[in-house]
Amino acid sequence: MMRTRFAPSPTGLLHLGHAYAAGFAYREAQAAGGEFLIRLEDIDGTRNRPEFETAIFEDMAWLGLTWQQPVRKQSEHFDDYRAALDQLQALGLLYPCFCTRKEIQAEISNAGHAPQGPDGPLYPGTCRHRSPAEQQGKIASGQPYALRLDVDKARQLVGKDLPWHDRAHGDFIAQPQLFGDVVLARKETPGSYHLAVVIDDALQHITLVTRGEDLLPATHLHRLLQELLKLPVPEWKHHRVITDDEGKRLAKRDDARSIRSFRESGWTAERVWAAVV
Ligand code: GLU
Repeated sequence: MMRTRFAPSPTGLLHLGHAYAAGFAYREAQAAGGEFLIRLEDIDGTRNRPEFETAIFEDMAWLGLTWQQPVRKQSEHFDDYRAALDQLQALGLLYPCFCTRKEIQAEISNAGHAPQGPDGPLYPGTCRHRSPAEQQGKIASGQPYALRLDVDKARQLVGKDLPWHDRAHGDFIAQPQLFGDVVLARKETPGSYHLAVVIDDALQHITLVTRGEDLLPATHLHRLLQELLKLPVPEWKHHRVITDDEGKRLAKRDDARSIRSFRESGWTAERVWAAVV
């Protein structure tokens, strides 16, 4: 059974880009006689607001979308993310990183060069080889730390190519090293987008992950995490990202006009759909 999902964060009102993404996932499920689900990506607690959560459901219903219950809310499932971190830790693939952003920047400018990943310069590996005693000492002294994935070690452990398929872009072999040693958890959040997304998609039995092409590179890393955590491997379909008149990606923090404001200015749902084809 085909199952797709739309996974907004309740940090603002939905805009045309969200309508496009939600409609895309909805239609893929409809066309295959499958199910369409919602997930609220509220793992990073600082910017979420309950009123945006309510608005997401109201706007989606106004757009004429229907979805399966229950809606998964990340903040109610921290135990799932912790359990996954424990599994990766037991495999010896995580290490505590005590670097501040400033220290990482300084290290990169001292080195004079920095390999670039899809999200910026790669972590230079400062904390990768600290001895257990050193790690314990720093932790015991109360230094805050993040948990990073030792990506080379993880690839060695897997020891084979990891293929994945995108229905719009074709076949890939995972290149998770693109991102370097990513952060999978911070002190205040026991999970990152990359970790939560693979667990949630597995627990929601998603068979086709649809989302913007801006997240296509992240799939390389997700494929590795799925292998390490022995999760089922879905298919993907990355779609175009709706941009504003100047070609910039719509973002909640910009002044992207929300579905709500179109609605309040008299637009019908049909007119919104026509604007995002
Ligand atoms: N919350 C993510 C976003 O808004 C969803 C990413 C995904 O679908 O995997 O871009």
